[in-house]
Amino acid sequence: MTSTSLTFPVRNDQLPALREAIEQADRQTRAHGLTGCHLSRGPVEPMPWPDVNGVPIGAVAVQDVTVTFPLLQFEGWTVIAQVEHDGTAGNTVTALPPFEDEAADRIAHCDACGERGALTSYLLRHEDGSTMQLGTTCAGPYANLSVTVLRDLWDLIRCCLAAEPYEPGEVPPDLRLHVDQVLEYAVALTIQAGYVKRGGGWTTAEQVRALLLGGAGREALDQLHEHLRAAGNVEATAAAVRDWCLHGDAAASDYRRKLARAVAQDLAPADIGLVVSAVPMYLREAQRRLTTEDRESITATVTEVSPLTSQWGERRRVRFTDGAGRRYAWDSMTQPFPEEGQRLRVTGRVVRNAVREGMVETYLTRCRVAPA
Ligand SMILES: [Zn+2]
Repeated sequence: MTSTSLTFPVRNDQLPALREAIEQADRQTRAHGLTGCHLSRGPVEPMPWPDVNGVPIGAVAVQDVTVTFPLLQFEGWTVIAQVEHDGTAGNTVTALPPFEDEAADRIAHCDACGERGALTSYLLRHEDGSTMQLGTTCAGPYANLSVTVLRDLWDLIRCCLAAEPYEPGEVPPDLRLHVDQVLEYAVALTIQAGYVKRGGGWTTAEQVRALLLGGAGREALDQLHEHLRAAGNVEATAAAVRDWCLHGDAAASDYRRKLARAVAQDLAPADIGLVVSAVPMYLREAQRRLTTEDRESITATVTEVSPLTSQWGERRRVRFTDGAGRRYAWDSMTQPFPEEGQRLRVTGRVVRNAVREGMVETYLTRCRVAPA
């Protein structure tokens, strides 16, 4: 056997570095009368991409590639590993499978000259199973192995063995995110903490990005996850936002056209901001459809009870949320007043819509309330 090959998965964006290592090793091996190095590629397939907690958030295109290269041989010996010796940091071993164990725990020495302290040595294995270790400077004179071929070929082998299509915290250029996941995070954060647009601090889009792709501190992420838990089940609202984006009036604006296109398939990380911005717009529009004189019946949680000045007796402004991003307010004189956190069935007439903290709030009047 004069050549061998390694098969492993790589992403498209990892191919250029691999090709470069192959070309470099190919030049050296051919120049020294050996067979060349080459690459063959399998079909491109999607690989699920998880977030830091292992939840699949998208996919990236990968392909199995096979790199074929010559074995370096000499009188029944074959070079099977490169060992870079570092007394303090430990050895870096690059071994052809299945010789990893054989190459481990090698001390820096050379079997040809007996010298200790070589920076890099190569491990050779004989057909009879015995091994020999050669320092770089002895590989040429003793075994007729070119130092540059050894170096470039082992750079290539290291490149192949280290190829890893998934690294936590990495954002590959071809990564595509699941739109539903992006929207569910955006809806939960908007409902729970209010939508933060550019210029208002840590934007909702940045928060969604941090949840999906990392890059925020532990404490900040814990806070976001608390919002997600508190928001509860937002799947239906997220699906409604997606539908609103897809079936919006594409002729209306460039923005709506972009939105419709973005949510039609998995999403580039650069488009997170665009898609997240649809959430407050959808919620506002959905709530504006509630017009004056509509009779609304909702199951909602009391979020705030604050006193109002009044000359006719005690009054309270009671605020509710229905858990799907809709907010309501009711100026009540009916005692006993509801308490924060109470779940109620509220039936009332719509008076008007007002914007508060970037969210539409629907004012109700003449409400009947019952425990929910
Ligand atoms: Zn030596």
